Amino acid sequence: MCSYQVKREMENKVFGAFLILLIVTSSAIVVGDGFRMVNAQTPQNDVTLDIQKFTWEQPTLKVIVITEENSSWWQPYYVDSVLRAVGIWNDAFQVFAANHSEFEYVKGLSLVPTFSDDAHSGFDIYVSWTTEPINGGGDNVGLSATYSISGIAVNSSVSLAVNNGFGIALDEVEMQNVVLHELGHSLGLGHCNSLGDIMYPSSLLGSPAQGISTLDVFGVATVCGWLANSSEEMPSDKWPKVSSVGSPSDVAYEFFPLSSANVPPLSVLEPIVGPVRFVFKVILKFVPLELLVIIAAAVAVLAVVSLVYRKREKGTLFAHSRGCRFFFCHRFFFAQSIEYTCAGFYKSRQTDEVSG
Ligand SMILES: [Zn+2]
Repeated sequence: MCSYQVKREMENKVFGAFLILLIVTSSAIVVGDGFRMVNAQTPQNDVTLDIQKFTWEQPTLKVIVITEENSSWWQPYYVDSVLRAVGIWNDAFQVFAANHSEFEYVKGLSLVPTFSDDAHSGFDIYVSWTTEPINGGGDNVGLSATYSISGIAVNSSVSLAVNNGFGIALDEVEMQNVVLHELGHSLGLGHCNSLGDIMYPSSLLGSPAQGISTLDVFGVATVCGWLANSSEEMPSDKWPKVSSVGSPSDVAYEFFPLSSANVPPLSVLEPIVGPVRFVFKVILKFVPLELLVIIAAAVAVLAVVSLVYRKREKGTLFAHSRGCRFFFCHRFFFAQSIEYTCAGFYKSRQTDEVSG
């Protein structure tokens, strides 16, 4: 085997490793406002949740979900996604109130969904979908905007993107996670600093169906603290005065398990997505998400460069040489000088021609 063939085999292995890494990292599509991994990386005591400066003056919030069944992009599972997200919040209110007597008033909170193909007035939260990029640009897939007067919410609008920033339709699990997150905003929550929390501002597509944390519900309990004394008529200054909360000492930071009714059916792609998700969970235990994104971007660029280089290499010796000059990243990563690569290629060709 000539030296060129040895080098080519080495390059093929490295190139293969690049492609595998690219495929894996390509799954880490980071989106804003909606997704997350399940592993909390922030120590429990440092987990904080922002609180918005409004409250609702009624504990039962009427949610109208505007369906568009005649649109080509409409998916029936959008309805199920909202129903389950609403169910997760309602279940959590009840469990939290049952486990923490000082927050018993939380059991009075509930979201009541109604489905309609048209928007009607008289509702508190309006949920709708859009095929357009979500306001804010980038990779946002959900947005919640609440209109309030003197700290009292009048209504809230939840916009859900049909596609992610890459133009790929959100699946049932992803949509459910986004709805869960946006309803949290409509309930008065801001963002959480823990990657494992549903109120973390960004997460990964392909995450499993998520639950919500005790801190999320404690946040809502803080927003609606006026309910603790329901006999008192709520004055207009009852909106939360804190901008951020952490878990109280007697409330452990943990996640509410999902009831079977709130677990979406597994995707047919689960046998593929599942292992990839597992790999990412493991990686994210050791590597910050931001660093992973940078690595993914770098690997993607290198893979493209490699592809272009290999394509050119199939041409004439002249084209091969030109490719080396233009794409010197190849030289760096394969630890081969331009001169050696070209000379070796030329020499091996000559040898092959002689021996063959
Ligand atoms: Zn958000």
